[in-house]
Amino acid sequence: MITMGPLLALLLAGEAVKEPPSCDLELVVLGAGQDAGAPQLGNPSDDGPHLLPTSLGLIDRDGRKRFLFEATPAITQQVHALDRVEPGRDDAPGGLGLDGVFLTHAHIGHYLGLAQFGVESAGADGQRVFAMERMAQFLRRNGPWSQLVELGNIEIIELVEGERARVSDTLTVEPMRMPHRDEFSETVGYLLTTPGKSAVFIPDLDSWEEWEEMSGDSLEALVSRVDFAFVDATFFDDDELPGRDMSAIPHPRVVHTMKRLSHLPEAERAKVHFIHYNHTNPIRDPGSAQSLMVADKSFAIARRGDRHCLVEGG
Ligand SMILES: [Zn+2]
Ligand SMILES: [Zn+2]
Repeated sequence: MITMGPLLALLLAGEAVKEPPSCDLELVVLGAGQDAGAPQLGNPSDDGPHLLPTSLGLIDRDGRKRFLFEATPAITQQVHALDRVEPGRDDAPGGLGLDGVFLTHAHIGHYLGLAQFGVESAGADGQRVFAMERMAQFLRRNGPWSQLVELGNIEIIELVEGERARVSDTLTVEPMRMPHRDEFSETVGYLLTTPGKSAVFIPDLDSWEEWEEMSGDSLEALVSRVDFAFVDATFFDDDELPGRDMSAIPHPRVVHTMKRLSHLPEAERAKVHFIHYNHTNPIRDPGSAQSLMVADKSFAIARRGDRHCLVEGG
């Protein structure tokens, strides 16, 4: 017997088939792991879910632009994944269909992928890279990054704290300083503002309380101002690294962030998407008790392949 799929059945019945809703400005999660992803070097028997380092792609369909947040060691795979969602224009600066790459700081998971713009790989021509002053200086002054600048593979555009950079007709990006291990660069998160929804991306910081002290802002107020908050979830709690005293290890724990926001209404909590989880973090596994607990408290966990619409198609 031949069975009929639901779509074919609808067509034969003469019913209109609804197109999926279009989206003019879309965020795509290209990775949600900590810098080293998972499995990490030295863990050959780790057979848990595979993680790529944290990265977001942003597609501006109206303006025919695409942006990348972070240049991770998995950049090749991540840009190809973005290509499968929406190919870039051939004439975008750099030649890879990317109108800008935004860097948060100089730790391995966040910028090593820049190397792929060089002559040994894509040989980009003027790929725009947005970074803060110290990060920009670090790249210009230290090999192999300095070679990318000298050969014109990348063109660094410096961002200024507190200033919104207009990168397309419908998108501004503003760096926000974050407290973190700043050996080589400062560390920022990014606020993405559109005529529709807004998002904040803070993959790495030492603590919310330190950030509140230095910014005069508050986590609750930040969440209230945006529609999506992708925030540091490196560690779940203090029991995660057996045999190690975790009190001196920075990063807000997932349980702490949830506790801080537990008094907020459900719709506010649902804006929070935990990202940048370490290979030891049990939320890495969507079926773990800890992942279920996060969902039960109405928070979200970012997963590679997630897509969120910031501006609906007209
Ligand atoms: Zn990191
Ligand atoms: Zn870091």
